[in-house]
Amino acid sequence: MTETYPEIREAVAKLCAKFPGDYWRKLDRGMDYPQAFVDALTEAGWLAVLIPEEYGGAGLPLSAAAAVLEEMQRAGCNGGACHAQMYTMGTLLRHGSDAQKAKYLPQIASGALRLQAFGVTEPTSGTDTGALKTTARLDGDHYVINGQKIWTSRAAQSDLMLLLARTTPLAEGMKKTEGLSVILVDMAAAKGQGLTIRPIRTMMNHATTEVFFDNLHVPAENLIGEEGRGFRYILSGMNAERILIAAECVGDAKWFIDKAVGYAKDRHVFGRAIGQNQGIQFPLAKAYANMRAAELMVREALALYEAGQNPGAEANMAKMLAADASFEAANACIQTHGGFGFAEEFDIERKFRETRLYQVAPISTNLILSYLAEHVLGLPRSY
Ligand SMILES: Cc1cc2nc3c(=O)[nH]c(=O)nc-3n(C[C@H](O)[C@H](O)[C@H](O)COP(=O)(O)OP(=O)(O)OC[C@H]3O[C@@H](n4cnc5c(N)ncnc54)[C@H](O)[C@@H]3O)c2cc1C
Repeated sequence: MTETYPEIREAVAKLCAKFPGDYWRKLDRGMDYPQAFVDALTEAGWLAVLIPEEYGGAGLPLSAAAAVLEEMQRAGCNGGACHAQMYTMGTLLRHGSDAQKAKYLPQIASGALRLQAFGVTEPTSGTDTGALKTTARLDGDHYVINGQKIWTSRAAQSDLMLLLARTTPLAEGMKKTEGLSVILVDMAAAKGQGLTIRPIRTMMNHATTEVFFDNLHVPAENLIGEEGRGFRYILSGMNAERILIAAECVGDAKWFIDKAVGYAKDRHVFGRAIGQNQGIQFPLAKAYANMRAAELMVREALALYEAGQNPGAEANMAKMLAADASFEAANACIQTHGGFGFAEEFDIERKFRETRLYQVAPISTNLILSYLAEHVLGLPRSY
């Protein structure tokens, strides 16, 4: 199987080589944002590959973005710092007005505006998005927003946030997913005017936060699309997000496998390379096979997506299989390295922590399995 977009992969790998392990280690210690890495990607145009050419982007298909993200992870970098800048704008592109697109997309393409905060998850509702409690009440020419979001990653490094809030109170007979709307929040204007961002320290460096809205006023013109249809708009972007994160996980798996294979050849114990032992070989061979299978599912999801379909099952399976493959490879990589797998300077423990996230976010494995059970296998709905 030949790899897609070899020129893109080569160029991204070259850029990533300027950001080696010690760059990431220093940031990880202080939980600092990889600004220089993100600036370099922005300058090279890699974060704008999906934005149409008329708005200043490269206008490439999703598989080009997947190649960029896979290569970043494969090089040991952490695309989690900026992947959302690539795809969050999809909601604006598909559902925004011409005026909104003309106003924001060229600036997002150039990097002058960062749209990489996505406020959906809330502390009390969790995966049950329809139960979210943040409200946006229309009052003349503006919305008044009240509530709280959690795990709003990169909120502190975003100029704009895509917010999902309830604009119509839930009433008898109404579906929970109705009455929700997507609103673009100008973060600079909002800070100190009803918007508070608090960082959350996590087991990996992910710039994630909790966000509080206290009578925040946002111009009514910042509504994306029609009021009440926000859940659909958000859903329409989720397949792309899942496929791209799956590509990142494939990149992670490749990094772990390469690292482990290299070490298994070099490390000698009992007078021979540890890689000569089948106890070391088999977990790596299995991780490789599972990575390749996940890679095929990512390709299938990409092909269907680019053919104009809405491949919910394939996007979800790609994300689950790739997240499993990267975590399996991470585990095998630590085991292959013995004690050194835990040493910071090998980068394995950092990448291990980083890739673990994708079992839970942006959607947890159980929810993928229940989607497949219900929508593909036709089993009764469990919740
Ligand atoms: C580092 C990080 C970054 C994130 N970034 C963002 C972001 O930028 N924007 C954003 O909106 N969100 C973000 N998230 C949130 C993420 O999408 C959620 O954490 C994830 O979807 C799981 O939701 P939850 O944490 O509320 O878990 P819960 O919904 O509370 O679920 C807890 C556990 O119960 C399981 N569970 C729940 N219901 C069922 C069921 N019916 N059947 C079986 N199992 C079930 C889940 O699978 C999970 O394992 C981020 C999360 C993290 C940790």
